[in-house]
Amino acid sequence: MRTTVGIIGAGPAGLLLARLLHNAGIDSVVLESRDRAYVEQRQRAGILEQGTVDVLRAAGAGERMDREGLRHDGIELRFARRRHRVDFPALTGGSSVMVYAQTEVCKDLIALQLKEGGPLLFEAEALAVEDATTDRPKVRFRHEGREEVLECDYVVGCDGFWGVSRKAVPAELSRVFERTYPFGWLGILADVAPSHDELVYARHERGFALLSMRSPAVSRLYLQVPDGTDAEEWADEQIWDELERRFETADGWTLARGPITSKSVTPMRSYVHEPMRHGRLFLAGDAAHIVPPTGAKGLNLAVGDVVTFARALTHERETGSSERLDAYSETCLRRVWQAERFSYEMTTLLHRAPDATPFDDRIQLARLERLTTSRAAETDLADGYTGFPLE
Ligand SMILES: Cc1cc2nc3c(=O)[nH]c(=O)nc-3n(C[C@H](O)[C@H](O)[C@H](O)COP(=O)(O)OP(=O)(O)OC[C@H]3O[C@@H](n4cnc5c(N)ncnc54)[C@H](O)[C@@H]3O)c2cc1C
Repeated sequence: MRTTVGIIGAGPAGLLLARLLHNAGIDSVVLESRDRAYVEQRQRAGILEQGTVDVLRAAGAGERMDREGLRHDGIELRFARRRHRVDFPALTGGSSVMVYAQTEVCKDLIALQLKEGGPLLFEAEALAVEDATTDRPKVRFRHEGREEVLECDYVVGCDGFWGVSRKAVPAELSRVFERTYPFGWLGILADVAPSHDELVYARHERGFALLSMRSPAVSRLYLQVPDGTDAEEWADEQIWDELERRFETADGWTLARGPITSKSVTPMRSYVHEPMRHGRLFLAGDAAHIVPPTGAKGLNLAVGDVVTFARALTHERETGSSERLDAYSETCLRRVWQAERFSYEMTTLLHRAPDATPFDDRIQLARLERLTTSRAAETDLADGYTGFPLE
């Protein structure tokens, strides 16, 4: 099998890339190790930055998002039983975010790809990327019990943190920057209308909590829990009791409870692999970098990477210049590191470290206080949350 761009992974990065290339008249083949139902149901991110919304619309994949997504113009910070709203459009000159689940983005892109795009093979597991530094890189993969080879002009590794593509970069050329956090998020989905119309980020002595939503009828809520926690250790009523404590305000705000339909624990990690390119292999999304979910950046960074790649390849096709492809890693990493910084700052602003001292607590409260009294500090948060521009 032969194609121009071999794409490994049908998460948001791989699926959007296939769509962008199709629109630019460049053929691709997508290899995905899981089946379609699994990919469409995997619960993950839910906040789309303004730039991501614009990209999906321009790619012709924004119709259902515009109908069913919820535009959010702010978030609420909650600490010391007080509430403070951060007004995005007022602070950023008009930007907002969209609440539309990653599962729905993937469903929309899969439907478009199967209807209009090139091959998208499910249950096709990439085994290795070979000959990355030649002009004929290959992906060895297994599909329907047979081992096959996909010959490409370029390979884009969109296969997430646990994929195979990053392993094709020789160890002596790789640099890894990493931080793990001594806590995770216990996330639930509940069939109950969200208790607030915007996301609520709560800092509490017992740990962080986040109120989010998937739709007007489905709430998504998170609790900071110790690293290594098993979700089944938490009974449903215990989760609601703990959420209630952490969201408590002095003005009598109440949290609506409902049946919990899913429960899972997500570890927290910051990770960057440099470089993001090796010969004709390009890494995109979680294959190259991970952020803790506090800043809602993971999916949006994946979108930024594949837009950068698609634009660079289109430029090469139109002008014969590989200058932008050559600059792919540096271009992406500038934005990646801003998102890493933002996600790290949001995480350390709102979570309680197990070894936090009374001094650390006071500093955290002072940082929050500053956000509620300084327009400059608040604008910085709003800018980061609504998204760093694509170059
Ligand atoms: C449990 C969890 C919860 C998260 N929650 C949030 C959140 O609340 N907010 C937020 O902003 N971000 C969140 N994220 C991060 C966000 O979902 C990711 O940043 C985003 O999915 C990145 O997209 P991607 O396409 O790069 O990778 P993925 O979505 O990981 O897609 C990679 C794809 O590659 C496939 N694959 C892997 N190996 C192979 C192989 N060998 N061959 C073929 N295919 C392969 C996988 O099956 C998968 O479909 C979460 C991540 C996780 C893991």
